[in-house]
Amino acid sequence: MLVRRFIELLTPTDCLGCGADGVVLCTTCSNSFGLRQANICYACRLPSSDWLTCKRCRLDTPLTGVAVGAYYDGPVQEMILKLKFHRLRAAAEPAAQLILDSLPSWPIDTVTAVPVSPARRRERGYNQAELIARQVAAALELPFAPLLARSGTSHQLGLDRRSRLELVQGAFYAVGTYPGRRVLIVDDVITTGATLTECAEVLTRVGAAEVWGAAVARH
Ligand SMILES: [Zn+2]
Ligand SMILES: [Zn+2]
Repeated sequence: MLVRRFIELLTPTDCLGCGADGVVLCTTCSNSFGLRQANICYACRLPSSDWLTCKRCRLDTPLTGVAVGAYYDGPVQEMILKLKFHRLRAAAEPAAQLILDSLPSWPIDTVTAVPVSPARRRERGYNQAELIARQVAAALELPFAPLLARSGTSHQLGLDRRSRLELVQGAFYAVGTYPGRRVLIVDDVITTGATLTECAEVLTRVGAAEVWGAAVARH
């Protein structure tokens, strides 16, 4: 197992979609899996424009819009799993490309990432969402800033489900104040959007003027 992991680190990966040499996901495959203009409201999934949150959902969320790169399926799913659990850091670049291909020209000034707990970060050695966010920021020529942190979760053991949910909802906190910032929060996978919403609420509380979200793939 260890030997196989070591070999995986050394061997350049072939495209997870078509097997083309030397890239985790080639441009052709990225283009065929990318959602691009398939705009929906992230919260209710009804059609939208430019991935903007619809008027009704906007009453319940500070997120102006959430862009999604692809569906969490096939080679895209495999790419994210390899980035998360097999230390394939090179997957961050094609993952970021899927976001960039979907992202409207929103007036963002700072890019940040959904944080992982300190324990998870130690175990994995990195936060996969941050690797992706840094690539997105570099491509947009914007600063990446770690605006959010996540409290540890080991003390969740023994709590009932309700307390655990409350703890999860309170798990994110801001590491500073961000008056007037227009922030894009990047994550790897979006399911209900609850995580991005919670992060956006934290940023809004510390002064962010506008908050958008982006995820590589949607469940
Ligand atoms: Zn390919
Ligand atoms: Zn909606």
